[in-house]
Amino acid sequence: MRRVDTVPRSIRDYGGLIGEGAVAEIEALAAPLRGSRVLHLNATAYGGGVAEMLPTLVSLSRGLGIEAEWHVLEAENDFFDLTKRLHNGLQGMEVEILPTDRSLYLSTLERNMQVFQRDWDFVVVHDPQPVGLLGLLDGRRTGRWIWRCHIDTSTPGNAAIDFLAPFMGYFELAVYSMPGYVTPRLGNMRTEFVFPSINPLTPKNEPLSPALARQILACRFGISNAQPLIVQVSRFDPWKDPLGVIDSYRQAKRRIKDVQLALAGNIADDDPEGIEYHARTLEHAAGDPDIHVLSTLDRLSRDELTHALEINAFQSGADVVVQKSTREGFGLVVAEAMWKRTPVVGGRVGGIVEQIEDGVNGYLVTSVEECADRVVELLKSPRRRREMGERARETVRERFLTPRHLSDYLRIFRSLA
Ligand code: UDP
Repeated sequence: MRRVDTVPRSIRDYGGLIGEGAVAEIEALAAPLRGSRVLHLNATAYGGGVAEMLPTLVSLSRGLGIEAEWHVLEAENDFFDLTKRLHNGLQGMEVEILPTDRSLYLSTLERNMQVFQRDWDFVVVHDPQPVGLLGLLDGRRTGRWIWRCHIDTSTPGNAAIDFLAPFMGYFELAVYSMPGYVTPRLGNMRTEFVFPSINPLTPKNEPLSPALARQILACRFGISNAQPLIVQVSRFDPWKDPLGVIDSYRQAKRRIKDVQLALAGNIADDDPEGIEYHARTLEHAAGDPDIHVLSTLDRLSRDELTHALEINAFQSGADVVVQKSTREGFGLVVAEAMWKRTPVVGGRVGGIVEQIEDGVNGYLVTSVEECADRVVELLKSPRRRREMGERARETVRERFLTPRHLSDYLRIFRSLA
């Protein structure tokens, strides 16, 4: 296990955004928890929504006097290959689990037990990768254990459930992103729902003028300022459907000749499948000079700060953001683009449906054709883009910012304390 470095941050920084009253409420919620030891565990410090949210939640908890830490598993590729199969299985794919997988899983976790040499008051296990740890601790475990599921588990496959269910019985509470994701076959512990959130006070989400954003995209990636731009920001993953995005772009291009597409995505540490899917995406783009497939394998920066500014530039500079997922636990990228007043055309699945109200603050689509139609409609109407963008920002302000998320966690800890 490796501890990820975080710095304490004050919730008072958010006073200008949420009001002093709301800040005082959060401080009051946290007061009885001061000094509590909270451990957040997940599989990677790099790539994906969990790694995006944990630094903020841990930093703000520390600023409130809670002794929060974030640790990530240390493991080899064969472990991550297994956990990616489990992830895909929970999202509904029938995956193959090999007879040797259980011993691979447990022996890797056995090597990650140092963090339990001290006692914790609350342990929050994110996603399926670390769930087996609790059973390994047996009689030595302390604190209250919470499983935080970030993925869409509404129609899980049998193989993943059969593998994971024996490890789940130890958890006291399961926190899902949406009620529809509750999976009784994983155990009948208490459940809660918490929407994820984006942190408005970060380089990724700070306002960047569309003009400056487009200069960054032109200078760093050769994306023309003079042509309209569709963007999808996502890991290279079948559920994010980058190939379908390319097909939609091709249909849109028949009607808007100079349209460009940028697919920007990092390759997460725990995602060996990402490299392969990136290659498939490039192949599908077939050398079209107006398709920019950009990843951390080539032009996208791996430096955290530079990368965040690049992603900000994509989301702020796009004329339309697409998130054509076929499964999506929540889809932080949707909220990120909406916060920047960029209209989003999203797949009608999972957490995207919770964020986009079809035709009001964005569009929901279920096919390549529908996606192309909505993109074209938006590209042709600057007024529609502006109106939807404004409403999108208000949606995020009301429901999907960090302070609300932090309050949800504090309430959960208090309910268990
Ligand atoms: N992200 C990023 N660089 C990329 C692709 C994604 O920083 O190249 C970030 C993105 O801004 C968001 C998170 O990773 O904060 C992805 O979260 P989301 O919930 O959309 O999807 P997940 O990857 O967790 O399935």
